[in-house]
Amino acid sequence: MRYVSTRGSAPDLAFDDLLLTGLARDGGLYVPAEWPSFTLADWRALRGLSYADLATRLLAPYVCSTISEEDLADIVAKTYAGFRHPAVAPLKQLDTNSYLMELFHGPTIAFKDYALQLLGRLFDHVLAKQGKRVTILGATSGDTGSAAIEACRDRDAVDVFILYPHGRVSDVQRRQMTTVPAKNVRAIAVEGTFDDCQDIVKELFADLAFRDAAHLSAANSINWARIVAQIVYYVYAALQLGAPDRHVNFAVPTGNFGNVFAAYCAKRMGLPIDRLVIGTNRNDILTRFFTTGDMSIAGVEPSLSPSMDIQVSSNFERLLFDLLERDGPEVARRIAEFRATGKLHLEADRLKRAQRLFSATQLSDEDTLTTMRRVYEQTGEILDPHSAIAVGSLQRLQGNDRDPMVALACAHPAKFPAAVRQALGFEAPLPPHLGHLMNAKERFTVLPAKAAAIRDYVSAELRLGAFA
Ligand SMILES: *Cc1c(COP(=O)(O)O)cnc(C)c1O
Repeated sequence: MRYVSTRGSAPDLAFDDLLLTGLARDGGLYVPAEWPSFTLADWRALRGLSYADLATRLLAPYVCSTISEEDLADIVAKTYAGFRHPAVAPLKQLDTNSYLMELFHGPTIAFKDYALQLLGRLFDHVLAKQGKRVTILGATSGDTGSAAIEACRDRDAVDVFILYPHGRVSDVQRRQMTTVPAKNVRAIAVEGTFDDCQDIVKELFADLAFRDAAHLSAANSINWARIVAQIVYYVYAALQLGAPDRHVNFAVPTGNFGNVFAAYCAKRMGLPIDRLVIGTNRNDILTRFFTTGDMSIAGVEPSLSPSMDIQVSSNFERLLFDLLERDGPEVARRIAEFRATGKLHLEADRLKRAQRLFSATQLSDEDTLTTMRRVYEQTGEILDPHSAIAVGSLQRLQGNDRDPMVALACAHPAKFPAAVRQALGFEAPLPPHLGHLMNAKERFTVLPAKAAAIRDYVSAELRLGAFA
């Protein structure tokens, strides 16, 4: 399998180089040159496999040009053995045709672990073979950072620098990043928003001299390896609910568009998905786009679901690439226009094509709290605010559809104690393995929201010398 950039002018890569590269050198994102395709018989043959065995079979066509199937099976088995539920991604029934998929049984109790735990091990494997080191530089709106840190802590060939918006992540989220006592981990509190953090990361990746000297690599969802790992749980849930002999649909709380894009990939591989419901909070650029075609930037406002406080969703570019018939230069032109004017233009027929699969809705904080209360009263499930946005969107848009729809529970409710208390009047306890968190010593550096300041700090920590 080869990978191509959405902007059409970076070199094609094989999986190992792709893994280490992250953002393409033309500023684009990598996608597979073609989609591996599974027949009905192929899907049926995957039913009943364990999560790890299913992951190996689904990932093989994407990685096996550079990693042997035997090594892959070994890496995947070790990855998911560390999760704390034997089903890895268990399903719970909420109503006749609606389900909740729990994606919080990894070490940092958010769904990012499902991809990042694998990514850390893939890095180890590929770097050892190539005799290289990398520096992971990432921006987080809360959950990616801790998941990346957990995935890479104490690994020999990796340094990790994580930028998060100072004062805009929950205490638990921050502590999960700042209390890890590993020499190769730095948490940086940026005086700005998540979009500022993401822009800084993009700017530093575009600084090719610095990028090469620091061997920069990405662990956020611009890294294709993360998307591909997320395909697995969509297939796992769908097969249990009767796919491929039945359509199975999903409701996904969406920020950077990585998670829901993985569902789109599963569909491109032939999984019968009819509808993907995108749930957003008040930062609703995606909802405005999928309902009216208007993609225009507004300011980021804090909400009860901080991991979705995002306006510019990086992974949307991957969908745009397909909507523009994989015309890279055209993608580059439209993204440049979007950057310059704050508005993305898409023709009506292309928008219609997107709307056949995607629908979207926005939940205010009040709607989110109401959903948390309603679901708790009806089913006893304690939802975190992000999961509540998934369930609330499902309940709003599923209608009388008899195809099962699965809402993704992307974080454990103990990760957002203030919101849970506000909704239900009590807090969900942290799982036992995180009991130490609130007393452990914190370690972080506060820096201004300026790319140069971050670059100088990273250079000094890596002892690279000065960059002009
Ligand atoms: C990251 C995250 C999201 C958003 O996922 P994207 O892939 O960025 O769309 C939603 N909920 C939680 C809990 C998250 O950690």
